[in-house]
Amino acid sequence: MSIERPIHTAEILCVGTELLLGDIVNTNAAFLSQRLAELGIHVYRHTVVGDNPERLRNALEAAFAEADLVITSGGLGPTYDDLTKETVASFFHCPMEMHEPSLQAIRAYFERTGRVMTKNNEKQAMMPRGCTVFPNHYGTAPSLAVSNEEGTRTVIMLPGPPGELCSIFREEILPYLKRRRESVLVSKNIHIFGMGESAVETKIKDLMTESKNPTVAPYCKEGEVRLRVTAEAENETTAAEMCDGMIAKIRATEVGEFIYGVDVGSLEHAAVELLKEKKLTLACAESCTGGLISKRLTDLSGVSEVFLGACVTYANEAKEKLLGVRHETLEAFGAVSEQVAREMARGVRERLGADVGISVTGIAGPTGGTPEKPVGTVYLGISTQNGEEVRKLSLSSMRSRDYIRKVSASNAFDMVLKLV
Ligand code: ATP
Ligand code: MG
Repeated sequence: MSIERPIHTAEILCVGTELLLGDIVNTNAAFLSQRLAELGIHVYRHTVVGDNPERLRNALEAAFAEADLVITSGGLGPTYDDLTKETVASFFHCPMEMHEPSLQAIRAYFERTGRVMTKNNEKQAMMPRGCTVFPNHYGTAPSLAVSNEEGTRTVIMLPGPPGELCSIFREEILPYLKRRRESVLVSKNIHIFGMGESAVETKIKDLMTESKNPTVAPYCKEGEVRLRVTAEAENETTAAEMCDGMIAKIRATEVGEFIYGVDVGSLEHAAVELLKEKKLTLACAESCTGGLISKRLTDLSGVSEVFLGACVTYANEAKEKLLGVRHETLEAFGAVSEQVAREMARGVRERLGADVGISVTGIAGPTGGTPEKPVGTVYLGISTQNGEEVRKLSLSSMRSRDYIRKVSASNAFDMVLKLV
């Protein structure tokens, strides 16, 4: 759950070396101060820093000693010296992730204006996790608001060009701040795996379009979909209850069976929590993921309680020697097969003395596919005292090696969640 508390005081923080050099006059600060005064938000200070992340960080620290809100202008462009978003994200310890709707909007903007989009324009669609994105109809940089976990500190980031800044402020930020003046906003994230974004949207379209409070917004990344449910109310309890009501409605739809948790962080986190709860240990045998499953597990602190270890067995001999996969099985069915996945999972579980063994063997491409087993064919095995199961994935051979590996690893965690 994330929460945003009412805003009363603000600082305006303009970013840009040109301002310090006196090349341009800080008209953005004047504009923003006037608008905030009209809203009854007290502006305590104006600050200007150059395009320097360290000084920007210090300025944020100093601003939040007194203010609930910092509005920044500038540094949202596509170039290397545009660092506002990254610096604020790291200030709040928020990871950056691709925001698909913004990426699409930027693509559409380039098509509309007949310009060529470059790779660094994609950077403008990278957003701190959990932020609120405001569309920009006048340029490529979307504006955004991001808060700390306690909901006591918020940064709103606006683009530097005054025309863009003023328009976005009037259209998007004004209504947002009017709400933030009085009420508490609570957001909860529903985590979905195994159903694509467009399928999710189709199934809950009515809930998404008709509901204004709470709102429901989708985010997707590498085979996962997240729905962010946000409710506004006079206090936290009511807002949280409103979110829960909407979550119950979504659970009652066909999307329900693909929900693996609410505010659970990630698939691997949810899987590890489940194993901890059941006091079970895990071992894994990886072929095409080359250690990615283990990497994602060991990114979680405290995982040693459940994770015993892993074997990365790429060659057939390694599968035989380290996991005890039978030579005949490999000969008869090939390394990428249901039977080998099964023996790998069993082998690693028995050899490491774990309660649960998981395995993955597949063809991540771009080479190595055959007509019977094209790129994207992956078998995942799970072995427990109660038996074994294998899941076959047929991912599109058009997908990148990276994608196939990530989605394979995600499926391994999903199998733990579904089958343990
Ligand atoms: P861009 O995509 O144009 O790089 P940006 O969000 O990174 O946008 P800046 O590069 O900081 O913004 O500024 C872009 C231009 O906007 C500057 O060259 C300047 O003309 C104008 N500008 C920036 N900040 C201010 C300000 N505080 N007051 C008035 N004009 C400003
Ligand atoms: Mg810039």
